[in-house]
Amino acid sequence: MYEFNYQRPKSLADAAKALKSAGDGGKLVAGGQTLIPTLKQRLAQPSDLIDLGGLKDLAGIKVEGGKVTIGALTTHAEVAHSAAVQKAIPALAALAEGIGDPQVRNRGTIGGSVANADPAADYPAGVVGLGATVHTNERTIAADQFFTGLFTTALKPGEIVTAVSFPVPQKAGYAKFPNPASRYCVVAVMAAKTADGVRVAVTGAGPSVFRVKEMEAALGKNWAPAAVDGIKVAPANLNQDIHASAEYRAHLVGVMARRAIEAAG
Ligand SMILES: Cc1cc2nc3c(=O)[nH]c(=O)nc-3n(C[C@H](O)[C@H](O)[C@H](O)COP(=O)(O)OP(=O)(O)OC[C@H]3O[C@@H](n4cnc5c(N)ncnc54)[C@H](O)[C@@H]3O)c2cc1C
Repeated sequence: MYEFNYQRPKSLADAAKALKSAGDGGKLVAGGQTLIPTLKQRLAQPSDLIDLGGLKDLAGIKVEGGKVTIGALTTHAEVAHSAAVQKAIPALAALAEGIGDPQVRNRGTIGGSVANADPAADYPAGVVGLGATVHTNERTIAADQFFTGLFTTALKPGEIVTAVSFPVPQKAGYAKFPNPASRYCVVAVMAAKTADGVRVAVTGAGPSVFRVKEMEAALGKNWAPAAVDGIKVAPANLNQDIHASAEYRAHLVGVMARRAIEAAG
């Protein structure tokens, strides 16, 4: 690990100020589940580490006005075990329960997960599949505009995720084919029937989360597992690594989509 200045601001305004004044060398830390291993391996050299852990207002879950709003510092375990989330969007609680292992779920946060935009992370499928909104200290960003590529998002330098709000869907289901060691997604799908139509979002398969419009159209006509049978995703732009070929991932998209709709009921 390289040396850095450690700061633990007491307010969001102070965190934003510390981040801005550190310039390119400033880095936020939330649960540290991705960032700390990166620092240990000397893959990053921030001048200032700004710990969000003191901002208690950024943690917590609220259900009101047909929306579940989850503070950025809320851990995956809190989302998984929340009776309010289990009741309003059981698929989201199931998604959080399937992340990593108990240690990761007790430290990792929703804000860190969406900001990190790992192509194999679970939350991107939840955020895009449920048509959520990402709230920052400066603005709100619709899910479809938030994830912009491999480990990249619409966040500007100095911007801090404060919460993610999920409209309660009519039905939603989540299915994941996990890497047996890390539990990251080889492929996972969130399928949801919402007031604005059907959404099918895939994580793990490509460089960033994506929607499958052909499946959405078919499910819009007939919300049933069989509606996605035969709809194929081309392997051309999908990930290929030691865990799975692009062709296998393309096949898994169909299988996980079917299972997600079965889970939604
Ligand atoms: C062994 C292991 C297994 C895992 N398995 C899974 C899995 O199955 N599925 C899955 O989805 N994830 C998995 N993860 C990742 C985990 O879910 C963490 O949520 C994720 O690493 C990021 O959250 P964090 O709070 O730890 O963020 P940190 O590591 O603290 O930060 C990550 C990045 O986000 C930035 N950041 C943090 N908070 C904010 C904020 N509020 N606003 C703006 N930027 C911010 C940081 O600057 C940093 O760049 C795994 C991790 C480990 C170590």
